[in-house]
Amino acid sequence: MIDGVVSRRVLRGRTVQRLLPDLLPLIDGTRTWHELAAAVEVPEATIRQVLGILYSAGLLEDGAAAAPGTGSSLLDFLSRTVDATRYHRSGHEAAAALRSGVVAVLCDDDDLGDAVRTALRSSEVPVGSPHEVVESAQGLIVALSTGSRTQASDRLAAYRDVGIPVLPVTLQPGTATLGPVSYPDHNPCPDCTSHGLRGTGRGSGGVSRDGGLHVRDLLPAFIAHEVVLLLAGVGTARTISEAIVMDEAPLRTSFEFVTRRPGCVSCGTGGTETGSSAFAYEESVAFPPARLTKPRTHQQHFEPANIALSMEQRHHDGLRLALPADVDAGHDTSVAAAVAQTLATAFALKPPAFAPEGKVRRWSPTGGNLGSPQAYFTTRGVPGLPDGRWMYRGDEYAAYRVAEPGAGPSGVELVIVAELYRVWKKYNTFAYRIAALDAGVALSHVAIAAAVLGLPVRNEFGWNAIQLERDYLLDANEQMVVGMVRIGSPS
Ligand SMILES: [Zn+2]
Repeated sequence: MIDGVVSRRVLRGRTVQRLLPDLLPLIDGTRTWHELAAAVEVPEATIRQVLGILYSAGLLEDGAAAAPGTGSSLLDFLSRTVDATRYHRSGHEAAAALRSGVVAVLCDDDDLGDAVRTALRSSEVPVGSPHEVVESAQGLIVALSTGSRTQASDRLAAYRDVGIPVLPVTLQPGTATLGPVSYPDHNPCPDCTSHGLRGTGRGSGGVSRDGGLHVRDLLPAFIAHEVVLLLAGVGTARTISEAIVMDEAPLRTSFEFVTRRPGCVSCGTGGTETGSSAFAYEESVAFPPARLTKPRTHQQHFEPANIALSMEQRHHDGLRLALPADVDAGHDTSVAAAVAQTLATAFALKPPAFAPEGKVRRWSPTGGNLGSPQAYFTTRGVPGLPDGRWMYRGDEYAAYRVAEPGAGPSGVELVIVAELYRVWKKYNTFAYRIAALDAGVALSHVAIAAAVLGLPVRNEFGWNAIQLERDYLLDANEQMVVGMVRIGSPS
């Protein structure tokens, strides 16, 4: 078992357990894979496999090991946390990044300001004046407000405007808030943050029952820890996207999402818009600028659980209707073939011919290859297709009958249903946005395929979701109707 890296890992497998004791001391950056294989007398493929396991567990860094006696506890920390983001290849690179910036602390409470500077210096963070931060063009301004003495918001907005990120920190009796970092191109300005966090925290100010731990005493080390994560680009710096709220009595840490005010003159349009829940949601799932996205996050696409998720499909016991997709479109000109081809274009796995051996099979383009849009449809009087309500299985090029067709116009009623819960399992609240975008992509594919195949289509702009849930036996807890199209017969 490996402890002390970003997440605790258990390394299984006989090969790993047999090899590691001999292999670990040799992986010091001075040997090639070939030399490692020769030294422990195993095939190079085995070495690659073991190194892959160690790398995905966050145990490998590139470069030569530090000479004995030259390391430090800070370097150890950076080496153990560099894998959480993989902005850098090693703890050494992260340490260099930490040393290249300057941090200025603005605080009207001199004792507290000095304590924060001391904590930063003890973590090898270069501390300087705001002028030096602006001159170095790298670094951060920590703007600490206590009680009623708040930092002038126009002054902070000015730093933000010249490209210097500002970390707003507030200390009230019993409560402290950190962040979110106000970047020139990301997150609210300090004024919007101050507005959004007003009243946050329990702020009892009473006597702590946790052995006399006070937020004020913890704050300098807490700030230093967050600043190290931000400047070195390691670990999980929560203030890149949200506020950390620390309460005392009892001691508790929580996280708050803060949105810009759309009409803010500093970080909004300066117009008269006011916020809405839709705007707040969009803000909460917005992509940060590329430099703030972690290369490590991309690895989640390769997690076995997420690959399995992409093949998760709903089962139905109803009558099976084969809807073979004609890859060489045009051989079968029947209406039934055109409907099958349209469904396959928008909702199916790409044919095996498009999936090289050993590669993951891809759905028609969908977020995270999760195939979130599912096709449910009703057929009435369509030549070559039996009447009924159906659930399409894009991995089988087939549909299963879920119900009687009921009364309605002839043709195909196509209902696009997002598997919201499946997407949520990988993307959390971002799932709603992905499912909505996927629905638009699926609609476009239906429209393009139908136009090419000569099927008239009409996009419905509204529908009765509760009725459709009943008609198609949908699971309202996990699925969401996101589109509806009527497909007629070719004229
Ligand atoms: Zn603002």
